[in-house]
Amino acid sequence: CGIVGYVGGQSALDVVLAGLRRLEYRGYDSAGVAVLADGGLAAAKKAGKLANLEKELSDRPLPSGPTGIGHTRWATHGAPNDANAHPHLDNPGRVAVVHNGIIENFAVLRAELAERGHDLGSETDTEVVAHLLSESFSSCGDLAESMRQVCRRLDGAFTLVAVHADEPDVVVGARRNSPLVVGLGDGESFLASDVAAFIEHTREAVELGQDQVVELRRDGVTVTGFDGAPADVRPYHVDWDASA
Ligand code: GLU
Repeated sequence: CGIVGYVGGQSALDVVLAGLRRLEYRGYDSAGVAVLADGGLAAAKKAGKLANLEKELSDRPLPSGPTGIGHTRWATHGAPNDANAHPHLDNPGRVAVVHNGIIENFAVLRAELAERGHDLGSETDTEVVAHLLSESFSSCGDLAESMRQVCRRLDGAFTLVAVHADEPDVVVGARRNSPLVVGLGDGESFLASDVAAFIEHTREAVELGQDQVVELRRDGVTVTGFDGAPADVRPYHVDWDASA
């Protein structure tokens, strides 16, 4: 339901959790985060309110790192429990993905992945994306390119945001029929389903267009279509009052 991504000089976990709080008004049934730190990926997720996730994080703290993603879930496929909460990871746990929307052809993709030996542990439509990204990354070694390849195979409405432990300075996002906004800061960049998530940090924003993928780095963003064609990046200034 709500998505936040961050790469920059602050603690990604703090920025992501604060962003998720700003999106709480939308309603949700579970929440989760993933951060890249020390060459690996660490994630935590919990059914229920953000307070449950924060309790989990104080019991089992995640390492601090500059790159992270977060999600508040409104379940469409699979019960609102810990296993179905996002992020979803691939099996070695190198890639994490969060998703808003519905992937209509997930059953076909799931069957395909099972046939290739993937073990899927949740009931969600989302988990297939983590496994497909992982396969794709193994052959091309580039998360943005992996996202383009995977999105071309998906039907439905989705905002997807992913990180990979082998590209620790990058967050990748994609969208079709579901919103995703980029925030351009000074040495830091943001991704969110709603500008409310990052407005306290920057008011320079870029709306991602239909069927586009964004590669987010500290010093800027690159946007392409799902087909790889470069797209224009046209920042605008968000001038509404965030304190409202
Ligand atoms: N369809 C996904 C799920 O049920 C995402 C739901 C959402 O938009 O939060 O997990």
